[in-house]
Amino acid sequence: MINNSLQKNQPGRAKLWAPRFNNLLKTILLTCAAATFVVLAGCSLSDYFPYAEGTPTPSPTYTEAPSPTLTSTPTPTNTPTPTNTPTPTNTPTPTPTNTPTPTPNAAPSFVLNGKSKEYVKIGKTYTDPGVSAYDDFDGDITDKVVTESDVDVNTVGTYEVKYTVADKEGQESTLTRTVYVYKKLVYLTFDDGPCVHTSKLLDLLRENYPDVKVTFFVTAQEPEYLDLIKQEYADGHTVALHTYIHDYDVVYASREGYFEDLKKMEDTVYDLIGIRPNIIRFPGGSSNTVSKKYCTGIMSYLTKEVLNRGYIYYDWNVAAGDTTGKMQTPEKYFKSVTDNGTAYCIAKKDISVILQHDININSINAVPLIIEWCKERDYTLLPLDETSPIIRHSVVNN
Ligand SMILES: [Zn+2]
Repeated sequence: MINNSLQKNQPGRAKLWAPRFNNLLKTILLTCAAATFVVLAGCSLSDYFPYAEGTPTPSPTYTEAPSPTLTSTPTPTNTPTPTNTPTPTNTPTPTPTNTPTPTPNAAPSFVLNGKSKEYVKIGKTYTDPGVSAYDDFDGDITDKVVTESDVDVNTVGTYEVKYTVADKEGQESTLTRTVYVYKKLVYLTFDDGPCVHTSKLLDLLRENYPDVKVTFFVTAQEPEYLDLIKQEYADGHTVALHTYIHDYDVVYASREGYFEDLKKMEDTVYDLIGIRPNIIRFPGGSSNTVSKKYCTGIMSYLTKEVLNRGYIYYDWNVAAGDTTGKMQTPEKYFKSVTDNGTAYCIAKKDISVILQHDININSINAVPLIIEWCKERDYTLLPLDETSPIIRHSVVNN
């Protein structure tokens, strides 16, 4: 990858290139092929290889919420909408003469307390956060809500809590909440695609594991494969935003530059599937230090600002290690993910957000092994959504 003239720790200039092997480093080939890097005294070669996000940080500290920490914003769809609010007029008379008379027509509406999905570790107690119910005529009718639940905290499964309420006119409304009782929660996530291998992953999931949904953090590095985002979405997977291009020196050059790139990817996804994902992952993760080279403190800023702008970012706490070093066997990636002897594997976590890359064919080939291993153990495989438990690194770029 590096020509022989490069002295790793000597000041000077050297050319870098990345040979394509099984497409693993195709991106590097595209982005670094003709790049000239200035090697500064005191820097190591890895400082010049930004594509190292698969490397677990030496001693990562994770802020893992044992229970999901997302604020329980009531779903806006169930907010009661007063229909017959009198419109204020400019007449100075204190007693309006033409008070509008409300007409009974609307069914009751709910406001969900807590989240639309709740996650309960097997054997733990589950207390349902409940709902509030309103009617345009009857007002607050929360005490009339009938709750049906079949949640069994001692059996792994997906359960529903169903709320029903009727107003005086007999109009009934229902709402359901999903409750997962789990031994372990496992989130398979794939960064940097879509690419030439993405179809294979989609096919194997659709044909062999139709109940397993995963998360794609997409890029536009290979525009000819962008259409596969439609298939990811159609198959029920979560489409989330990674970055439009994957060049750290561009994405992290400035605060505005980061958001321009993110918006560009968001618009691209919107044009393809008609939705704007609010789940994102920073290139290199929020704990990356490479960005400091381009803009000091940018991660401290971005990790707060993306939340202000309504995005939810996810890092990972388990990594296949599929973008560093040479291509490994599927069995090696499988082992790295499931039980690698460290604290950062499914075997040691109650909740695992796994970093893989669909640009690595052998990492994709490891997916059936990982899924089978999880299924044998009755672990719950889910795609990320806004109710998922938060897994984030500590920001060190300040
Ligand atoms: Zn990436």
